[in-house]
Amino acid sequence: MIKEYYNLTRLQMEQVGKNKTLVIVPLGAVEQHGNQAPLGTDTLIAGEMVKRIRTQLGENNEFKNQDVNVLTFPVIPVGYSVEHQNFCGSVSFKPETYYHILYDICDGLGRHGFKNIVFLICHGGNRALAEVVSRQARQDLGVKVFLIASGAFSSPRVKATISPGNEMDFHGGEMETAMVMAIDESLVDLESSVPGNHKYTRKGKKLSFGGSVALPWMGEDFITEEGKPIGIGGDPSGATAEKGEIILDESAKEAVQGIMEIAEII
Ligand SMILES: [Zn+2]
Repeated sequence: MIKEYYNLTRLQMEQVGKNKTLVIVPLGAVEQHGNQAPLGTDTLIAGEMVKRIRTQLGENNEFKNQDVNVLTFPVIPVGYSVEHQNFCGSVSFKPETYYHILYDICDGLGRHGFKNIVFLICHGGNRALAEVVSRQARQDLGVKVFLIASGAFSSPRVKATISPGNEMDFHGGEMETAMVMAIDESLVDLESSVPGNHKYTRKGKKLSFGGSVALPWMGEDFITEEGKPIGIGGDPSGATAEKGEIILDESAKEAVQGIMEIAEII
C-alpha cells in the first residue's frame, strides 16, 4: 500500500501494519533562491518528489512483492534556513524549534506504533538537525529514522545537464531552477538571474564550505562578479524544463532505490 498519510481515516489507520510501514516525511524550506527562482523552491521540489516516488513505487513490481507499506506525510514547508535570513523573504525556524518539530513528529508516529521513518531532505540546511533527531529518536523512542537526500546531484545523468563551465552549481543554480521549471515554468524569471560564486574557495586549497577544512556557508559568501552578495552557487541561466525533468526523474529513481533497500531490512 502506498498512500498519503493524512488521507487515511482513523479506522483505516488502525488497520495499518505499523511494523512493516515506512512513513516518509519530506522536509522543505522557505528561502531565497536567487533573483529568478521562488522562495518555495525546496518545498515545491519536495511535493513533486513525493508525487514521483509514489508513482515510481506503484509501478515497481519488486516493491509490490514486498509486504511493505509506504505512507507519505505532508511536506514540512519551513525548515532551518538561517544562512538565507538576510535575504528578503527567507523564513527559518530556530535550530531548537526545528529540532523539536522533527522530534515531535517522530514521537507522534512512534506512539502509534510506527518504527520506521524517512526524512526526505529537500533542503541541505535541514540535514544537520535531521541527523541529530535521527540519533536521538532512535535512542529515546526506539524509532529508526532514515535520511534520504532528495537531489541526485552527483548522478552522471544529472551532471550531464549542467552547462559547461558551471562548476559550482548547487543552491539556487541551474539544477534547482530547472527543477522548478519542470514543475511550473511560470514561477521562474530566468532573465533576472545572476550567477554566484563562493568568495573563500580557491582551487587546490583545503578550505571550502563543506570539506575537511570548512566554514559552513552563509548566503552572503556567494557573490556576483562585482562582489555583491547574491546567495546562490552557480549560474542558473542555462536552466530548462527539460533538464529539470531529467533531474527530478533521476532524483526520484535514486530515492526509490533507497526506499527499496530500507524496505528489505524492516
Ligand atoms: Zn533549494
